Amino acid sequence: MGNRVALVTGAGSGIGRASAQALAKDGYAVGLLGHSPDELQATLDSITQNGGAGCVLNADIAMQRQMEQATGELVDRYGSLDVVVANAGINGVWAPIDDLTLEEWNRTISVNLTGTFLTIRAAVPHLKRAGGGSIIVVSSINGTRTFTTPGATAYTATKAGQVAMVQQLALELARHHIRINAVCPGEIETNIDANTDLRREDQTAIPVIWPEGQVPITGGRPGKSADVADVITFLASDKARHITGSPIWVDGGQGLLR
Ligand code: NAP
Repeated sequence: MGNRVALVTGAGSGIGRASAQALAKDGYAVGLLGHSPDELQATLDSITQNGGAGCVLNADIAMQRQMEQATGELVDRYGSLDVVVANAGINGVWAPIDDLTLEEWNRTISVNLTGTFLTIRAAVPHLKRAGGGSIIVVSSINGTRTFTTPGATAYTATKAGQVAMVQQLALELARHHIRINAVCPGEIETNIDANTDLRREDQTAIPVIWPEGQVPITGGRPGKSADVADVITFLASDKARHITGSPIWVDGGQGLLR
């Protein structure tokens, strides 16, 4: 396992950071991709302090040239690419449909959906060259199991679109021995609230109260990034060799309740 290489987008915080740390622990050299160098460096420091290897890759996932350059840089440095975690994303603006602007819609689509496309597009030639690999896309319960997050139309569309891409590509990429799956987290404690702009919730919210919280398995507490990272490392590994085109909900049952 020592010379296997993984790329993680949005590796500077939350689920991306936890996944990068978990993959490094499993022996991968990890390319830490994102657009906040200080946060990526902090992830790298935490990895190297534990004896792992990796490098910081500065790129905006919505920019094709930057993604191709960053992915190429990783492969030049470590010689191949085996695992890709397409994780970076934003909540964007959550607002009533007749209040959401085209610019706000376009930004969410551009980061979450086009960014996922560009991540996979840049990585696949290298995975083909390596003779196979595993891609894990971080989707959500939103758009796949639940539709009750107030005003999250653009976000939900991107998360549903990601799972459709995973299923479509599972068939296209199988002949190259490339598996592709999605993890669909429920509420996880991360920094994503900083990338959320919720407007006029009174016009979009579904007024439901769960007396014992909305995450059944924890009695209401949100999950942790490590809960998702553990599933990502499983999907990356040979233990998941017969799994492709599958969404896996990592939500403590939250999506079933909502
Ligand atoms: P997070 O802590 O905000 O992490 C997202 C990371 O992506 C950040 O490091 C962010 O960098 C980076 N990023 C955002 N836009 C980018 C861009 N254009 N180019 C490069 N990097 C970019 O949030 P998280 O909760 O870990 O989210 C990770 C994924 O999980 C997302 O796809 C999200 O939709 C999904 N998810 C999260 C939850 C949850 O409850 N937290 C639930 C379901 C699904 P900056 O912060 O510097 O912009």
